[in-house]
Amino acid sequence: MKESTNILKISDYFKCKRGDYLFAAVAKEIEKYKKANPNADIISLGVGDVSLPLAPIVCDAYAKAALELKEKSTFRGYPPYYGHDFLKSAIVGYYKDKSVDLSDDEIFVSDGAKRELNDLLTVFSDFDAVITSPSYPVYADACAARGARVEIVEASAENGFIPLPERVKTKGGAVVYLCSPSNPTGTAYPREVLKSWVEFALTSRSLIIFDAAYESFASGDIPRSIYAVEGAKMCAIEVCSLSKSAGFTGVRCGWTVIPKELVSGGVRLNDAWKRRQATATNGVSYPVQAAAAAALSDKGREYTREAVKYYLENARILKSTLVSCGIECYGAENSPYVFMKCPNGFDGQNFFEFALKNAQVVVTPGGGFGESAKNYARLSGLNDRGKTVVAAERLRRILDNQE
Ligand code: PLP
Repeated sequence: MKESTNILKISDYFKCKRGDYLFAAVAKEIEKYKKANPNADIISLGVGDVSLPLAPIVCDAYAKAALELKEKSTFRGYPPYYGHDFLKSAIVGYYKDKSVDLSDDEIFVSDGAKRELNDLLTVFSDFDAVITSPSYPVYADACAARGARVEIVEASAENGFIPLPERVKTKGGAVVYLCSPSNPTGTAYPREVLKSWVEFALTSRSLIIFDAAYESFASGDIPRSIYAVEGAKMCAIEVCSLSKSAGFTGVRCGWTVIPKELVSGGVRLNDAWKRRQATATNGVSYPVQAAAAAALSDKGREYTREAVKYYLENARILKSTLVSCGIECYGAENSPYVFMKCPNGFDGQNFFEFALKNAQVVVTPGGGFGESAKNYARLSGLNDRGKTVVAAERLRRILDNQE
């Protein structure tokens, strides 16, 4: 193929050989395997996509809103930059039920968490960042793309995969990414740990970006919002998503909370983000927002609770199977993920290949989430129950044959 070239300089981020995004790399390997084994019955416990359909109330709202666009009298054009009032009010109500008081203008409706976790960094320049590891690979890529100076704080089996702020060496303010319940480890921050991070952020004058994409899976005393901790409004942005809870991985809707108290370098972050969003996006489509509001209604939430139970049970099945084979595992209690230590000298990549070849089961190699996870693999409980049970039995067979 003939290629053209121009004189523009590509940013260092794309020049360095970062390789593919983790899940894109895994997908490539699966495609290769499928080509060589066209009849293989592969079950994916890999990428965290959901398998249950949307709640009927959500689909009805989605369809009704779409049909409104057919009539001149109910047609709508551009949505408001930061979200429709009806959805922002529903989100405020959702937080109220978690005993967190927010106002509508602290909510920014988004098309999901991933983009927000990247884009929020556009507000800062010349900054340090702290990323706990292992973690969702988007944080490290987002920081690299913005040229941030990054400190990785390792969590490991010794601290139960719960990273603690005592380990941070960066002096002065930094952007700190936290995620609870965590992807990939499935562990969730107890209230005391979250408090210690908030205290750390306040005293070091840092800003936490709290990824609450899995909040609906948390139970008991595990905080489902960082704002359940006193002082968090002074130091934290929260990013949330309907992807895993309400099945919106394809529909795309979430939100970001930026409390009015948050000021960085003399600038109110809520104002800065309003300015940024008004320039960078024309919002989320009306039918999607109508569907999101339905997902947050009483009936929608009832459906979500059932879906969460279903996925947690899948995760429990996977974990108990692995544990019965003598495998060290984390997660599955407040999260749809099981994080397993690979047995018999396998690292995550070898185990991924071994499970695909011998059980036609896809797991995600841990190394893509961080160095300390390279001997681990992540299994997702978000697949269909029947497939999960079959996958668990196939894994049992190959693990038993290993002894
Ligand atoms: N945050 C975490 C920790 C995730 O695991 C994911 C998706 O897997 C996301 C954010 C992205 O969510 P969304 O689908 O809303 O972009």
